[in-house]
Amino acid sequence: MHSLQKQRSLLFQYLRSSSNSNNIIHNSKMILSSSSSLLLASNFSSTAGKVIPCKAAVAWEAGKPLVIEDVEVAPPQAKEVRINIKYSSLCHTDLYFWESKSVPPIFPRILGHEASGVVESVGDGVSNLKPGDHVLPLFTGECGECPNCKCEDSNMCEVLRINPTREGMISDGKSRFSTIKDKEPISHFLGTSTFSQYTVVHSGSVVKINPTLPLDKACLLSCSISTGIGSILNVAKPKKGASIAIFGLGTVGLAAAEGAKIAGASRIIGIDKNPNKLEYARKFGLTDFVNPEEHERPVHEVLKEMTNGGVDRCIECTGNINALMSAMEALHDGWGVAVLVGVPSGDAVFKTNPFNFLNEKTITGTTFGNYKPKTGLPTLVDMFMNNKLELGKFITHRVPLSEINKAFDYMIKGQGLRTIIDMND
Ligand SMILES: [Zn+2]
Ligand SMILES: [Zn+2]
Repeated sequence: MHSLQKQRSLLFQYLRSSSNSNNIIHNSKMILSSSSSLLLASNFSSTAGKVIPCKAAVAWEAGKPLVIEDVEVAPPQAKEVRINIKYSSLCHTDLYFWESKSVPPIFPRILGHEASGVVESVGDGVSNLKPGDHVLPLFTGECGECPNCKCEDSNMCEVLRINPTREGMISDGKSRFSTIKDKEPISHFLGTSTFSQYTVVHSGSVVKINPTLPLDKACLLSCSISTGIGSILNVAKPKKGASIAIFGLGTVGLAAAEGAKIAGASRIIGIDKNPNKLEYARKFGLTDFVNPEEHERPVHEVLKEMTNGGVDRCIECTGNINALMSAMEALHDGWGVAVLVGVPSGDAVFKTNPFNFLNEKTITGTTFGNYKPKTGLPTLVDMFMNNKLELGKFITHRVPLSEINKAFDYMIKGQGLRTIIDMND
């Protein structure tokens, strides 16, 4: 989603805003406003305004199995929403921060950001959501007021955009989670922390969905599927009949393939070093599959030959910087566009011959497929509702919350696509 450099600049922005002395005044207002929201919300829910005890999968150390803990979840403050998470699924970004190999370790932490649930209660100043609403919590958001939100082309909200280093809520920097046993605070993750039966999320990062949609499938729209489809429809924007190469056939790459089909691509070429992905390439209707390990030549040469001089669009979903360089080389000159979607390691450096630009090739990147969460995502939700988008085929495993570590095992071993975690099982 982001390079480390971007994350660092986000962290800097966050530190700058949280050092503002106005926060002290802001916090005292928050206490007043939360008590008034308590009265309002109590009309709808017996738990509103109260601490909720529940189960959560807590990451205590980098790379160590999550532990199911009894935790307390504090009531939502102003502009916040407390959600009863029904289903969560595991995304590579959870794994990336759980391993903390090239990012600062932040533990204990409740990971999870691809999820769906039902609003339990809302804080003061939340007018567009109410208890009982079916929702998707999102790792990014839309405040509606900042220059990025007002810019038609951007989904990089300056207030609510992804910030993996933030450990608490935006309003007061504090966590809404603590262990019941020791009252130890537990860090939030991406503003969502959906590996808990209840979580608190900023209202600008919560999208209401039609209650008839199955929540176990809809959860996939809060990250991977939207990212993949949006990378095609909103960013690469291929012409009908275009050739599209997709590097990495995980869930995001296969979602990009769905986007390519919707866009009317004539060739959809999947590239993956894992030969088992051939089966998925067939199942998801790709026209070609290339395993770079089976070729003596560089993969971009293979792709150029297959497409009479170059691919119209390349989507890079692996996060491997060499794959991104191959994607650039594989493009057709004059109009080719490569889109970075995968998350590279923090110290990765992209290199290319500048003549690629003089030859009118373009490289760009995207977070969340360029969808604005509140105003853009509903178009994708509608596609799912109208059966124009099938989500069930991305689900290969299901586990109860108590067996969440199995989801990590499947992902590490490259088995299957998405594992749905039933949070109330
Ligand atoms: Zn994700
Ligand atoms: Zn904004």
